[in-house]
Amino acid sequence: MLVKILLANPRGFCAGVYMAIDVVDQLLDLCPDEVIYVFHEIVHNRHVVERFQRRGVKFVESIAEVPDGAIVVFSAHGVSPAIRLEAKAKKLAAIDATCPLVTKVHAEAIRYARKGFQILLVGHRHHQEVVGTLGEAPEVMQVVEKPSDIASLTISDPDKLVYLTQTTLSLDDANTIIAALKIAFPNIKDPPVSDICYATTNRQMAVRAIAPKCDLVLVVGSANSSNSVRLTEISMNLGTPARLIDDRSEMKAEWFVGVETLLVTAGASAPEDLVHDLIEDLVRTHGAEVEQHDVCHEEVEFGLPGTLKTMMRARGVDPAGRRIVRGDESSRLHAWFAEHNIPFRTVDLTVQGSAIQN
Ligand code: SF4
Repeated sequence: MLVKILLANPRGFCAGVYMAIDVVDQLLDLCPDEVIYVFHEIVHNRHVVERFQRRGVKFVESIAEVPDGAIVVFSAHGVSPAIRLEAKAKKLAAIDATCPLVTKVHAEAIRYARKGFQILLVGHRHHQEVVGTLGEAPEVMQVVEKPSDIASLTISDPDKLVYLTQTTLSLDDANTIIAALKIAFPNIKDPPVSDICYATTNRQMAVRAIAPKCDLVLVVGSANSSNSVRLTEISMNLGTPARLIDDRSEMKAEWFVGVETLLVTAGASAPEDLVHDLIEDLVRTHGAEVEQHDVCHEEVEFGLPGTLKTMMRARGVDPAGRRIVRGDESSRLHAWFAEHNIPFRTVDLTVQGSAIQN
């Protein structure tokens, strides 16, 4: 019988996802009579995409699908220079919602390529972010997905080699691949700072700390969300079964047989209201208590992209009055629990300096 639901904190939206979603929201406000095109899913979450589609936003997988001169948003995962050039050739009003932490990896790739390095990009070959980063210097970059890929790399000078990583990898998997790279190429350079972002690191740290106390982990997120899938894998590697679900409708009663303690978390692109709905269902069905376990607190925020601010000014809108305002999720959550009569307490597991804020 389910007696306790542990709610991981941090979970859900990261600063890059808040910013990217806000960009599309702002454009819908700013240009009510124009169609907003988004190149690729703005973030990897089915609900976020469907909610925007219902408001008229069109998601495309190629720039050719966007009419000349229209508004196009580049998603949080970033795009290659070739896509930017295509957009320019069609005179599109391109608004860049790339997460600044992805842009940082692009900048590293450009810098090392200019210095004559070969770059090994650790990540998932077909993920949008890797495709975009690879496009910065395709002639000197190779993707490494797993240690067995190392044998087939073509390296001209092992002393002029650097590795970079996708921002949303599992820290454990990345460390295994990096260790194998360092054995094969002892002089390979590390990036200046880890490319795996603060949100990925902190959400994984929370699962690592809490999942071992649980019988089951539910991760709210979409199957194409890299960081959500990684949370599921981390839990399973720790020996706690885990399920990745888009929302409460995908839960199955048989999952909870013999489960007393459940951990609920959410990937960086999963909206918090989906977590709330899930908890409400679980409490109503099982009568379980809810505890939020705070592993760290995040304070990262990103401002609106320069391309959007320029468009706002051109349309007579002051971007200063349009700043992204992140709500206080904790007090919103507490109010929601009170409103729904859900028994709730917070457990502080924070260790000073534990939060990564890159
Ligand atoms: S998961 Fe990390 S890199 Fe990706 S959007 Fe969020 S903060 Fe940026």
